[in-house]
This record gives sequence, C-alpha cells and structure tokens, in this order.
Amino acid sequence: MSHPSTRQAMVLTAPGTPLVWQELPLSAPGPEQVLLHVQACGVCRTDLHVADGDLTRPKLPLILGHEIVGTVVALGSRVAKFRLGDRVGVPWLGQTCGQCRYCRKGRENLCDAPGFTGYTLDGGFTDYTVADQRYCFPMPTSYDPIQAAPLLCAGLIGYRSYRLAGDDIEHLGIYGFGAAAHITVQVARHFGQKVYAFTVPGDQATQAFARSLGAVWAGDSTSKPPVELDAAIIFAPVGALLPAALAAVCKGGVVVCGGIHMSPVPSFPYDILWGERVVRSVANLTRRDGEEFLALAPQIPIRTEVQPFPLAAANEAMDRLRQGLIHGAAVLTMA
Ligand SMILES: [Zn+2]
Ligand SMILES: [Zn+2]
Repeated sequence: MSHPSTRQAMVLTAPGTPLVWQELPLSAPGPEQVLLHVQACGVCRTDLHVADGDLTRPKLPLILGHEIVGTVVALGSRVAKFRLGDRVGVPWLGQTCGQCRYCRKGRENLCDAPGFTGYTLDGGFTDYTVADQRYCFPMPTSYDPIQAAPLLCAGLIGYRSYRLAGDDIEHLGIYGFGAAAHITVQVARHFGQKVYAFTVPGDQATQAFARSLGAVWAGDSTSKPPVELDAAIIFAPVGALLPAALAAVCKGGVVVCGGIHMSPVPSFPYDILWGERVVRSVANLTRRDGEEFLALAPQIPIRTEVQPFPLAAANEAMDRLRQGLIHGAAVLTMA
C-alpha cells in the first residue's frame, strides 16, 4: 500500500491555545511501528485537560487524540502481529518500560516511565500516524471505525473503573454521564445490574439519555438516589462529587474516580467514609484490559452514540465537549 510523504494534523502548539492545522512530514515506521491511515479518532475529556494545561508537561508541539482507529498501510521490520490492511486501535497507553516494579508485576498501567498517546507521544488528530504495534489492538470488525473509536478510552477506562468498583453489585451509581458512562451503563446492564445516573443539576436531556440507555434512575448529582448504592463511579472531573458519592454508597461500598484530573476534593466528615467504604482512583489501562473489553464489547453488543466532526473542526468538537453539549462521544473523522 502506498502512502503520501506528508500528513495533515490539528496541532497543539501551546496549552490554552486552539489547535492549528498543519502539514507535517510523514516518516517511515520504526521497526516496532505500524503506519496507520487514520479513519476516526475519539475526542476524550483528557484531550481537554491536556489542551487546557490541567495535565502538565505534554510533548509540544503535540497531536492530541488517543482513541484512534486506522488501517495499516506500512509495517516496521519487526511487526508480525498485523498485516497490511488490518484495522487497528491505538489506545492511551502507548509505551511502557517493561522493567520498573509495576511493569514486572503486571501492573503496566502504573509504569514509572510510560508513553501516553496524544500526551507524551503524538496521537490521532491527523490523517496518518505511527504507533508501537505492541500496544495496538486488533479491532472488532462488526463496528465501523467511527463507532469503534470511543471504545478505546471511554470504553476501556469505563470498563476498568467498572471492574474495580467490585463484584456482587446490584445498585451502581455513575456520576457524570458522558462518553465513558454511556458505555459503562451497557456493560452493567449486561451483567444484570441496576444503574443510577447522576448529572449536572437540571440537565434533563442527559438524564433522559441515561434512561434511554437503561439507567433505572437518573437525577441531579445533588440528589440522593432512591436506594443505597453498592458502589459508585465518578467520571465527571468534579471533586465535590466524591463526598456526595461516598454518602450515597452502603457500608463496604467502593467509590471509583475514573478521570485523570479532578478539581480539589472538599473536606468531609469521617463518618461517610467509616463502615469500610473505599475511595480509589483508576489510572490508565493495561493491554489485558483492552483485550478483555474489546472481546466483550461486540458480544453485548455495546452500541456507541457518536457525534462525528471533520478533522478540521477539532476545536469545535472540543468546545462542545467542554460545554457539555455532546451526548455520547465526539469523534473526528478523516474520510
Ligand atoms: Zn514500567
Ligand atoms: Zn481518554
């Protein structure tokens, strides 16, 4: 397969400034890399945190985007896992050291020297990109690329958050009903659990969206659910939700913070943590999470609600996500 010698990309040149359209040279893939013709790349809240400077020390200039679906158009010399024409997904975890205490114990999501797609490595807001084949996933062919893109972070992080919320859950709370939540609710329903969705107070459109995906209850984040929750996942980057979620879970319940960034958590009385309640965060993903989740998604089958934007409209897509105007997931398309 042939490919051009340049690529088009929406580039972050400095935090706090809009992305700019640039034509950049396209180099051949390294020995472990695949060169992909990108079909779609999801826009994740983490992209906003990088662009806005909440996450510090990005590679600069940087191509954002870590929910990449593309087709292999060239192979590095050591690539055996993929062939030309394969549909491949590139997630947030782009590299690990393989040697630190975490990598050696199978906890590569916590690697001390990681590379993250669209943060410390260039990502997918572009028409062509390279990726390390060892961290790429074969994508289920039952999804089209635009529908599949949100599985790669919203789906994966949602799934890891869901698993870490514990076993034996009947009533699961989800705070913040965006891309990750709209996938996670389908996983929970598949396993026969009841989901209670909490949104920005008064956001009835999102509450209706949550109910349409099978939430048994949807309401304001300031309100109490009708039952005590067994566990809760917080996807919204709002620290004040942590004490609210703790107050809503039963004894022994887990509150999982699924986002990479959160505003400061206000102090709270010890009695809402007492009773062996647990607060924990979820960081990144392991390749095993990806393999498990991408095998599960087509079985359920998970359906993603996507709002496509052309690559050149990346700034608009990010603004709409920032304003809470996206139902489901925003996805850039390169067709
Ligand atoms: Zn490591
Ligand atoms: Zn993400």
